[in-house]
Amino acid sequence: MINKYLKNIKPLHAVIALVAVLVVLTIVLLLVKTINFNDFITNTENKTFDSRQVLLVNNKVKKPNKDIVLVTIDDASYEYLTNKYGEWPLPRTVYADLIHFLEQQNPASISFDLMFVSSMKSNNGADDKLAKVMNQYDNILTGMNFDDMSYEVREPVNLPARLKLTVNNNSDVDFQNLTFTNCRPILSQIINSNTKIGILNIVRSSDGIVREFPATVKYQNDYYPNLAFLTALNYQSKLDKKSYHEITIDKNATIKVSNKKIPMNKDGGLILNWYGPSQGQTYEHIPLYKLVMLMNGEKIKEQYDFKDKIIFVGTTATSMADVKSVPITGAGETYPGVEIYATFMNNFIDNNFIKKASPATNTIITLLLMAFVGAVVLRTNSTAIAISTAVLTALGYTLLTYFVMMFGNLWINIVVPVLAIMTIFVIAYVVKYVIKSRDFEHQYKLATTDGLTELYNHRYFQDQMKRQIAQCQRYDSEFSMIIVDIDHFKSFNDTYGHQAGDAVLRQVAQTLKTNSRSTDIVCRYGGEEMSIILTNTGKEEALIKAHNVCNAVAERIFKLSATQTVHVTISVGVSTFPEDGETPQQIIEIADQGLYYAKEHGRNQVGLAEYNTNPPENK
Ligand code: GH3
Ligand code: MG
Ligand code: MG
Repeated sequence: MINKYLKNIKPLHAVIALVAVLVVLTIVLLLVKTINFNDFITNTENKTFDSRQVLLVNNKVKKPNKDIVLVTIDDASYEYLTNKYGEWPLPRTVYADLIHFLEQQNPASISFDLMFVSSMKSNNGADDKLAKVMNQYDNILTGMNFDDMSYEVREPVNLPARLKLTVNNNSDVDFQNLTFTNCRPILSQIINSNTKIGILNIVRSSDGIVREFPATVKYQNDYYPNLAFLTALNYQSKLDKKSYHEITIDKNATIKVSNKKIPMNKDGGLILNWYGPSQGQTYEHIPLYKLVMLMNGEKIKEQYDFKDKIIFVGTTATSMADVKSVPITGAGETYPGVEIYATFMNNFIDNNFIKKASPATNTIITLLLMAFVGAVVLRTNSTAIAISTAVLTALGYTLLTYFVMMFGNLWINIVVPVLAIMTIFVIAYVVKYVIKSRDFEHQYKLATTDGLTELYNHRYFQDQMKRQIAQCQRYDSEFSMIIVDIDHFKSFNDTYGHQAGDAVLRQVAQTLKTNSRSTDIVCRYGGEEMSIILTNTGKEEALIKAHNVCNAVAERIFKLSATQTVHVTISVGVSTFPEDGETPQQIIEIADQGLYYAKEHGRNQVGLAEYNTNPPENK
């Protein structure tokens, strides 16, 4: 069937198809070259993570910890405090007074997501006072930033050993992208006191969204803890009454602090489990100006309880631009940087950091899904079942990844498995189609061919007769048929045996075939009778053909065995549509009458029906 189809393709069409395929291939290759496929997969996978997180947040699966509060330098605070003190940044004495004020209620800790760098406006006295007050309590933390600033701008400083974190890295986590060469130091009074200093560097994915968080970064070959991690270590130290100055990243890339587990990525980041959206719906936001009012004895309607609270102080004012894009905010929305530190702290307390499934796990999942979809598509006979299996598997799996993140805090990949499902569906479907069409071809051949002679069988002959008649009627043309009967075949069988008879049948069939055109249809009519339909052929041409065939058989030496050869002859009858009849029966009948004449007149010759009443002169 396919071969026949191919034969019908015109050369022009083949050339056009070939050019089209080449053009498509070129476009695909160019696309693959320009789009980095890996980046595409990573970015899309990240987006699926965001969607899962948004769903979890919207379904209120995760609840922010009430012990974490934010003291925010919001737009109102910026305006109020600038008016009140006539300068910005705020005089350092205000922060010093604020620390005293908050400490009266015994908070768990106060972490400043602020950098107290030396400023023009602040005077030394105020800086000294702030450093002194900070040093007075053991639960005050503040921040500092590393960068890769040119040494011409500033020389890197050496930081005191007390700020370092000892990290035993027993994993393949490498901090190459979290290694910095320079540092923007804060007030030397603070650096040289006992106040805890954490690092404020943050990581963004290539699309600008903060998904990873560095628990620790490297500077001058040493590790330094992030402000949030330092807050967490400090918190756990107090609970366990032991210090955590030294941490270990184990073989499975996990940091264990007491009963808390922090799974790390290869690049030293970790994945936060988000709460939100921001602004009052996560952590309590307490505007700084209200605390200043309280501190100054002014009356406000709110009451604040800071006992045992983990306080993060930071800017949320839009004018100060310390805002970040995170997975759970929509397009254009921003998220205060200080909430990211609070989120780390919350993940730490709840022990619910997100862990990425290992490449091996993702690969096994992908292979299992492919095996399932591939098997169903290959086995089913229904296209609807095949398509719905692929679609439902992809959807079901995607839903499963959501629950795995919900209950296991595990991020298993969606993009590659779903692409794999689509690919295996297409491949299995095509393979199945090829197998099916081959099978169909085989069945078709079985149904239309005679097993012994490999000629077309009687049924096919009858079908083709009808077809030829219909076609010739439509186009007003003619066709002929030849009927062949082997002479004295009964006695041949008696003499040489049935096996030899079969061999002769095969060889006669072969002789008919080799003496036919590709448009002729050679069939086994039945027994030792064969027929040839000669398309588009009139009586005269058919007669010539019949003589050729008759002579070819007569001249052929038939081999029965390696040593034994025989000669065989045939008798042939010919008839033509439409002159000899309008139905297959009539045409066959006329050919038979010709055959009868040939048999009656000595065999090994061609006969026509009309010879029976009007014999040819030269025969
Ligand atoms: P005639 O010249 O008049 O045709 O004599 P004949 O003996 O050939 O007579 P007829 O056509 O009636 O003979 C049919 C014989 O062909 C009967 C049977 O033995 C033989 N025959 C039919 N089919 C087969 C076959 O498949 N294999 C073999 N070996 N012989 C077959
Ligand atoms: Mg016969
Ligand atoms: Mg015969």
